[in-house]
Amino acid sequence: MSTFRVLGCSGGIGGQNRTTSFLLNQTILIDAGTGVGDLSMEELLQIEHVFITHAHLDHIACLPLLIDSTIGARTSPVTVHATSATIQVLKKHIFNWHIWPDFSVIPSAEDAFLRYEMHELGEPYQLDEITITPLPAEHTVPAVAFQINNDRSSIVFSGDTVGGQQFWQVVNQITNLKTLIIETAFAERELSLALLAKHLCPSTLAVELQNLASHVEVLITHLKPADSDLTIAEVLNLDHVHPIRRLLQGEILEF
Ligand SMILES: [Zn+2]
Ligand SMILES: [Zn+2]
Repeated sequence: MSTFRVLGCSGGIGGQNRTTSFLLNQTILIDAGTGVGDLSMEELLQIEHVFITHAHLDHIACLPLLIDSTIGARTSPVTVHATSATIQVLKKHIFNWHIWPDFSVIPSAEDAFLRYEMHELGEPYQLDEITITPLPAEHTVPAVAFQINNDRSSIVFSGDTVGGQQFWQVVNQITNLKTLIIETAFAERELSLALLAKHLCPSTLAVELQNLASHVEVLITHLKPADSDLTIAEVLNLDHVHPIRRLLQGEILEF
């Protein structure tokens, strides 16, 4: 049994809202949004791997702080897994000595607090009983979705995306798919903004979900806080063929 704990699944902050981050079996983070900040020091120290869908701030906000906060208590580096395009952005714009130190050379390049592992689309990466595969995602910056597979079943997390044929083509080939976590950032009244920002809103989600062949559970994430109740109400009002509900912060999916 594997556990997938929702540390944050909001499209923003404020009050109890935390941005995207999921904890997989204690040692693996999927994205590193502000939800990471609620973990105890003991929990932070167990994190060995961080898989990043894309470099937008709501998905990486706590990555620099996670590494910094555990220095001195950690015996092995944090490995950041992403595509080369995303790693380049992290190196150039975050770990650049201006925003934050370059922890990939501290205390030395040979024995650093942070190491990068580059991934190609469609290439599975095995960590204990879990296999994580980056899948195509269409967003305003280089982005991926992730398939998280423990052989018994798979969860697919879309990351930030407008969907697209390439994504559905690979998702529909996953024979043990149990759960699809997909974003719906905006309410219908923000349709033009959603198109511009390459996010989904209820009507575009409905069109995309017509591509989902198997009868799996669909969980909605990344609702913008100001319109979250409106957005999920609009999503639930659509005529769905799949069981659909809001992903909840704090919930643990077992698969
Ligand atoms: Zn984004
Ligand atoms: Zn986002």
